[in-house]
Amino acid sequence: MKNKTIAIHKGTLRDKMTGGVNTPIYTSSACDYINRDAALYPRYFNTPNQDAVAKKIAALEHAEAGLVFSSGMGAMSTSILAFAGAGDHVVMLDALYGGTHHFATEWFSHFGIDCTFTKTSADDVINGVTPKTKVIVIESPTNPLLAVVDIEKIARFAREKQLTTIIDNTFASPVNQTPLDLGIDIVVHSGTKYLGGHSDMCCGMVACSNEKMDRILSLARVLGPSLDSRICYLLERSMKTLCLRVDAQTKNAMEVAQFLSDHPDIASVHYPGLENFEGYEIARRQMKGFGAMISFEIKDKDPNRFVEGLKIISPAVSLGGVESTITSPSLTSHVKMSPEERQRIGVTDSLLRLSIGLEDADDLKQDLDNALKKASHSS
Ligand SMILES: *Cc1c(COP(=O)(O)O)cnc(C)c1O
Repeated sequence: MKNKTIAIHKGTLRDKMTGGVNTPIYTSSACDYINRDAALYPRYFNTPNQDAVAKKIAALEHAEAGLVFSSGMGAMSTSILAFAGAGDHVVMLDALYGGTHHFATEWFSHFGIDCTFTKTSADDVINGVTPKTKVIVIESPTNPLLAVVDIEKIARFAREKQLTTIIDNTFASPVNQTPLDLGIDIVVHSGTKYLGGHSDMCCGMVACSNEKMDRILSLARVLGPSLDSRICYLLERSMKTLCLRVDAQTKNAMEVAQFLSDHPDIASVHYPGLENFEGYEIARRQMKGFGAMISFEIKDKDPNRFVEGLKIISPAVSLGGVESTITSPSLTSHVKMSPEERQRIGVTDSLLRLSIGLEDADDLKQDLDNALKKASHSS
């Protein structure tokens, strides 16, 4: 089966009582245990609604097993802790999602885990490995600068050294990137973003081999970040249109990125699909599409006035919804860093991050153009 068919049919449970085509919502947290291998219980991650979405993500990510969590961070922290413990060392990109970065800087020492943060090139990551390293955590494209990491090179090295590799595949989604095919062990998603797709739920997902999943599931069952059946149902409904949404968002993003890079008021555009972008060659090799996240810097204008002038694109944290949203990383995700530190990693005050939705691309371009004009008049 191809992706569009998988997204709709894989895992979906026909309702035997009515013949209905949708997975019924199973609400019981008390289930019969007689003549069964294991009683169903939501925190055991084994209800039919959890199972339906887990099967979809596994199939989309070309994995043996999938699991749904109550958040992306629940999925990420459980996956890391399943393979790194006291005395172990972890290598991570310094450009990882803020929550993952925070988990490492604030909490790893509590578990006796040591961590090295590296830049995004494969050589930097490989050079961060020590004899105590057990896990490598990467993300590609990164937030907010869309740096593209050479996934295959890192995965090949890690396999030789028998290290466990984890990738946060949220930005690309399984529609645009399937890292297990490149040799990565564990794929993690914030399902809150493209998998949910409508900015109305919080969830996370993991996809990997049965062997790796045994450990993750065992830890997940005691940490307890399980997702309620009612939300699983919403997620399942959303995942059925995942491919259509992400393909259309990716197409829109290419148009908007091109428009921005041709615009005289724009200083720089970060988008893996632009031929002059640093990560373009690697992205072309390892991604099926370039995704729908763009960041850019505007020239000589107040970025806040520009954002206030937008009528269609909403200022909002989070991403991946059907509606286009924009954030200022220096005021949101990176606000705790000093201005010097932000400058050093390229997150300037004029940098803005766009999550492109499903609106008409002409309307999005018009909205950006109008807001740029308004920002000029007032300066
Ligand atoms: C949002 C996000 C997360 C965290 O997901 P939650 O669902 O908020 O816990 C992790 N990684 C990336 C790349 C994200 O964008």
